[in-house]
Amino acid sequence: MRFQKIKGTRDILPEEIGRWQAAEKQIQQVMARFGFSEIRPPIFEETELFARSIGQLTDIVSKEMYTFLDRGDKSLTLRPELTAGVVRAFIENNLGKKQPLNKLYYLCPVFRQENPQAGRLRQFHQFGAEILGSAEPAADVEAIALSIAIYRAFQLDRFVVKLNSVGDAVCREPYKQKLREYLRPRLDRLCKTCQQRFEKNPLRILDCKETGCRTETAEAPKLADSLCDDCARHFGRVQQLLDAAGMKYELDFRLVRGLDYYTRTAYEIVSDQLGAQDALCGGGRYDLLVEELGGEPTPAVGFAAGMERLLMALDKIGWQPAANPPAMIFLAPLGEAAVLWAVQTAQQLRQQGLTVEIDLLNRGLKAQLREANRQQARFAVIVGDNELKAGHAAVRDLTTSQQNDVLLAELISYLQKACTN
Ligand code: AMP
Repeated sequence: MRFQKIKGTRDILPEEIGRWQAAEKQIQQVMARFGFSEIRPPIFEETELFARSIGQLTDIVSKEMYTFLDRGDKSLTLRPELTAGVVRAFIENNLGKKQPLNKLYYLCPVFRQENPQAGRLRQFHQFGAEILGSAEPAADVEAIALSIAIYRAFQLDRFVVKLNSVGDAVCREPYKQKLREYLRPRLDRLCKTCQQRFEKNPLRILDCKETGCRTETAEAPKLADSLCDDCARHFGRVQQLLDAAGMKYELDFRLVRGLDYYTRTAYEIVSDQLGAQDALCGGGRYDLLVEELGGEPTPAVGFAAGMERLLMALDKIGWQPAANPPAMIFLAPLGEAAVLWAVQTAQQLRQQGLTVEIDLLNRGLKAQLREANRQQARFAVIVGDNELKAGHAAVRDLTTSQQNDVLLAELISYLQKACTN
């Protein structure tokens, strides 16, 4: 029987892992530079946590979650995003009591049962950050600045930051009413999905991709014009701070984000290099979520970004991770006594921090040297029974093909020196 991977999942093979690791390292460095600490919540949580925080009406909760009953008949779900788990961990571990402001980041797999296509997977990876404890517009700008800094650290510059405010409990409901009134006479010209959204989730009609819906909403009243005073002041200040720091953005009244927990600032970073799935990153403020999940009222703002989409964009610009592999030593023993010596010597060399490969296939000299070259080893150490008896080894520099006889007693210090040159 042959098994195949589940639709929408990918194997990250050894040939690509270097890119992943280099990208992860770069992200971790920028996160640290901004003063964020990593958090790793579990892969699954109670289903109710996601239903509550993301919202019953969202696509994620209504049709995309991997939900299952465990043996105790408890409903569990593989995380479809990280914010809910981070907030649960924040509350459960009293992080808000330990310090007034928590700046957390994550980088891990998430699961959504979507229709797979380019840039859309069922298991994918997100990195993201959450700032818990500040209602200040400067915190919104910190989150936006952090996401921009990450893309810039990779020399990516073909992206646009789209910005909007989705208001709060005070101004969003009256706006929804206004929007419904505007759309009611146009209802039969909206797509089926938007007709269903009309009563319960009219904001989502604004970001529908159907041409008909876009035409009907082109002149619709804008949420940014209907904000209450506090939200309008907040939104104005966010823009002022972004301007002052020289961060470019475009206002986009259609940007409402799919998740229910957002308040005020919503933003997305899109790239014209990704095709239909053009969102690199999305985020915003969620001032009500901590309280909604049972914690003390705690304002918060954050973002989540797709790792695969970042790597796709990096492929487009020909990004190459800085290749700086350590010099490698290939031990090429010939004969049983030499293998015994090689196993001992590999152990000693590795203890000294050197990178060592040893032939495990009992190959002949030619085949071993071919393999050493294929692996781009810097040195091959050739030892047969005769060399062992004479107490020396042939060390061949594979870049120059120069070969030296080195006393076995001096081999480790010789290689240590040679590998640092
Ligand atoms: P969201 O939580 O839906 O705002 O997603 C945040 C980011 O994750 C998006 O901007 C994408 O970069 C990425 N993303 C979302 N869904 C997928 C998916 N199914 N496959 C790959 N990346 C995704």
